[in-house]
Formats: sequence, C-alpha cells, structure tokens
Amino acid sequence: MVTVLKFGGTSVGSAATIRQVSRIVGAAEGKRLVVVSAFAGVTNGLVEIIESLERGDEQGAVAALGHVSERCASIIHDLSLQGAVVEKYEEEIARLRALIPAILTLGEVTPRAADAILATGEIVSSFVVAAFLGALHLDARMIMITDDSFGAAHPDEAAIAQTVSERLVPLFSQVSIIVTGGYIGATKTGVTTTLGRGGSDYSAALFAAALGADRCEIWTDVNGLMSSDPRLVPTARTVPMLHYDEAAELAFFGAKVLHPLTIQPAVRCGIPVVIRNTFFPDGAATRIVGTVSGGGMKAVACRHGVAIVHIRSNRMLGTYGFLAELFEVFRRHRVAVDMVTTSEVSVSVTVDDSLALDALVADLSLLGSVDIERGCSQIALVGAGMRRQSGIGARFFSVLRDINILMVSMGASDTNLSVVLAEKDAPEALRRVHTAFFEKGEE
Ligand code: ASP
Ligand code: MG
Repeated sequence: MVTVLKFGGTSVGSAATIRQVSRIVGAAEGKRLVVVSAFAGVTNGLVEIIESLERGDEQGAVAALGHVSERCASIIHDLSLQGAVVEKYEEEIARLRALIPAILTLGEVTPRAADAILATGEIVSSFVVAAFLGALHLDARMIMITDDSFGAAHPDEAAIAQTVSERLVPLFSQVSIIVTGGYIGATKTGVTTTLGRGGSDYSAALFAAALGADRCEIWTDVNGLMSSDPRLVPTARTVPMLHYDEAAELAFFGAKVLHPLTIQPAVRCGIPVVIRNTFFPDGAATRIVGTVSGGGMKAVACRHGVAIVHIRSNRMLGTYGFLAELFEVFRRHRVAVDMVTTSEVSVSVTVDDSLALDALVADLSLLGSVDIERGCSQIALVGAGMRRQSGIGARFFSVLRDINILMVSMGASDTNLSVVLAEKDAPEALRRVHTAFFEKGEE
C-alpha cells in the first residue's frame, strides 16, 4: 500500500502544526510519500523579495528576506532541530542573500531567477519536516521534471514516471516514509522551476500517478468540500464523495479548497483523492473519484457579482450566423461569457458584474436592443447525471416559487442546474434549495 499525503501551508505553519502532521503521518500505514508546501506565509514573503527587486528596492528585499528567514528559523528552533538541518537552512538563506546583489546588478528579475527564489520555501520546509519526522528527505527537483516555462512549468509526465521508478521507488525498499516538497521541480538539465502558485496539490497528484499510489490525501485546514457555503447556509455539511466533474463545477463557484485540474493526474489513473482536515483528522472528509460517485445531488453553490446581458433582435428570426456575429463582439471586447440562453429573437448571457460594459453594449446595440441587469447571483445545484433523473427540476423550482428567477440553464454539463436571480434573494434561495435537497433524507 502506497499513500501520498500532501500538507498545505497552514498544516506546516508552526511547530505545533508540524507535530500534528507527524502524528497523522505516523498513524498512516504502508509506504508514505509526504509532500509539503512551504510554511504558511513563506511563499508570499518570497514574492515580496521578488517585487522589491523588481523595483530596485534593496532595503525592501533585505527586509522581506529577514521576515522569511525569521519565520523558518523560529519553526526550526521550536521543533528543537539542530545540527545538519540548521546548517542546510543557513546555506539556503545565504544562497538567497547572495542572489539579491546579483539580481540588482543585472537590473532585472528573470523568470528563472524568480523561480530560484520561490523554490526556497518548499526546499526548506521539506528538509525541516523530514528531519522532524526522522524520515528520508528527497529533493523534489530530483523527480519532478518539467519544461522551462518558469513560474508555471509544465511537468513532463514520462520523465517523472522514469525518475520516480529509478530514484524514488528503490528508496521505499529501505524506508517507509519519504518527505519531499510540492510546487518545485527542475528541467532535464537541472535548472530549478516552479509549477505556479498553489502547485503543491499538482505535485502530489503527479507523484501519486507516477507511483501508482493507492490514494492521494490532500491535508488542508477545512473539512473537505461542503454542500453549500457555510456562511450563508449554517446547515451545510461535508460532501463525502464527489465525482471529479462535480468538484470542478464547485471550484468554478469559488470552492477554494483545491483547483480540480491539479488533481487530474491522480483521478485519471483511478487514484482516489481525499481532502482532509489536519486540525480534525478524524472529522469529515471528501473523496473525489473519477468514476461514478453514486447518484444524487451533491451541493448547491452560489456566485455573486453576476450581470445578465439581454440582446433582442428580429434579425435572429429564421436566419443563421447571428450568434456567431454576437459572440464575435464578446470576443473582441474580451468579455468571458458564463451562462447562455436563447429564444427565437433574443439571447441572454451572464458576465462578470465588475466589468465596465459600456463599449461592449455600444457594439452589441448594432445587432439589436440591449438590456443589462446588474447585481445578480447565480445559484447552481450540482450533481452529475442530472439529465437521467426526473423530479429534480420540480423540487428545485417549487421551493423557489415566490422568488423571482431571471434566467435558467441546465443541460450543457449534465452536472449543474443554474438559475440567476437578484443578489438580495440569493441567501434565501440557497437555504431553501439546500433544505430541499440535503436536509430531508436526500443524499
Ligand atoms: N507554496 C506555494 C504557494 O503558496 C505552493 C503551494 O502551497 O501549493 O503557492
Ligand atoms: Mg500555499
């Protein structure tokens, strides 16, 4: 049995939480690959160094480096680590300090230099956590092979399969716990890269896939994915199991727990991804799977800040090419469209309410009459396989009977039934749908 356990920044944010990580890893069984993020706040601190350097602000860069090194040093101290770890940490900080004048002389922070700075967070957190766990440390740059798109490097999955089988798997015949860093990698020629902010989940999923792991656990600071926004729906609870598509849909509605694309490599290989809470390890968790997750609705999500653009035109009647012309206008103004509904002579689309739409509206007016409704919210009932189940629409709309609905959409994804309504009606609508689907014995 092989498990990948990934711990995010808040899970390794202090000596106390790292002790908790140690208990969780210790309680798990079999071979364990522990993937850690930088200590909470450290990546942001490194970004500050880069931003200061970009301004040519040496003092700012030195001060930001001071904060980063203090945070790391205090964690190392609080964990009572000594000897080689402290030396290694000091080497890393010295390396960073030496980069500052070099970059200032160059007068530019190249993407390659930025990654050399950003990687420090995970380089340090991984050997510190390894030392505290008494586990083997493996520098992720030995196995996470990427291209050279610095800042958002693309992993080379074939190369990773090879490095994992040649460099990681043999180690598991000697030890049962290995710690490595998320987010960081290296090109084939050994130049340090990063996968983009929040990239540690992606690392974990890629390693899980290359290892053929039995599961990939993402340890964070919330109880998995919730059936609704707990700030608006106090009865919201953890969804025990979700299909990958459902998780992706929820992420679009602002579930910040994870970016579903990042776990795709694991899901594609049939490896379940489990979202768990480091601070309540026995509490509820969400398992994300790639095959059928059991029918039924999973969550009701809400997105504020939506505007509806209605376009009416008799020119639409019985012709072709009108929609192409219409969407060409959105393309030209670089306005992303979310929901779309059409009738014979009108089209309604939703867009981000924070955009200035005047120029778009002026051009759209050449095609027909345009109305904008601002201050709307979208409410989406999420559950895969909606098209094959009857009665969902009836239940959904019957609880909204006295709430004014401005737009409706279902079908495209087969995982979401959405309505748009005035923002002031959204909390009440959300609670009613949640009650109807998730509090009356419905799973
Ligand atoms: N430390 C990196 C970040 O904060 C990567 C991660 O935490 O996933 O973006
Ligand atoms: Mg982070």
